[in-house]
Amino acid sequence: MRAVQGEGPSLGRCCAFVRLGGCNLGCTWCDTPYTWDWTGSSDSGKAWDPRAELHAMPWQEVARRLRAFAVPLIVVSGGEPLNQQRRLVPLLRDLTGSGHQVEIETNGTVVPAPEVTAMVRFNVSPKLAHSGEPEARRIVPEALSALAAVPGTAFKFVCRGPEDLDEVTTVTAHLGRSPVWIMPVARSRQELDRNLASLGDAVVARGWNLTTRLHISIWGDRRGT
Ligand code: SF4
Repeated sequence: MRAVQGEGPSLGRCCAFVRLGGCNLGCTWCDTPYTWDWTGSSDSGKAWDPRAELHAMPWQEVARRLRAFAVPLIVVSGGEPLNQQRRLVPLLRDLTGSGHQVEIETNGTVVPAPEVTAMVRFNVSPKLAHSGEPEARRIVPEALSALAAVPGTAFKFVCRGPEDLDEVTTVTAHLGRSPVWIMPVARSRQELDRNLASLGDAVVARGWNLTTRLHISIWGDRRGT
């Protein structure tokens, strides 16, 4: 779909999204449970039907559809896209070869392959304890360090409020000098406004960046098509 990047360093840029199915985590508050939650374990409580949600497609067809949007930026999201990174390589080659910039959004638990890192920029969103996932699954130092070493990588942490920021500081020990963005957890405009205001001063005081969720401000929790 054609949209605007709603979060992080490319906030507001016109882009096209391709969303891949499957995730190796299961965050309770996940806002895309339809990509992986086939049992109703997330807060949505709904068991999504993979036959309705997932559509197998040759990479050439994906590339054709993305090029048709005529936008310079392609965002590969999920689910967890790096679970399928080897199979992404031909698509990434095609898109970057035709002049597109590509960003991959990842939860930071998978070590990126060199042939992928050479072509993309990463938006990495390590998960905190409030995701409901045990630390050993959500924090993979080897993967975080490898992603931090890729030029242009940005890290983005979903936080409920200032009480989560000490935990971010702990995780940033794996990130070198990579830029850090803090983003409020929010599924409605009201929640976004409230959490953004509660985070603002504390984020600035720590010298990090703050991002809104522009798509929530514009479209609320409505799912893109
Ligand atoms: S890592 Fe992302 S896609 Fe996977 S469950 Fe967590 S929020 Fe959802």
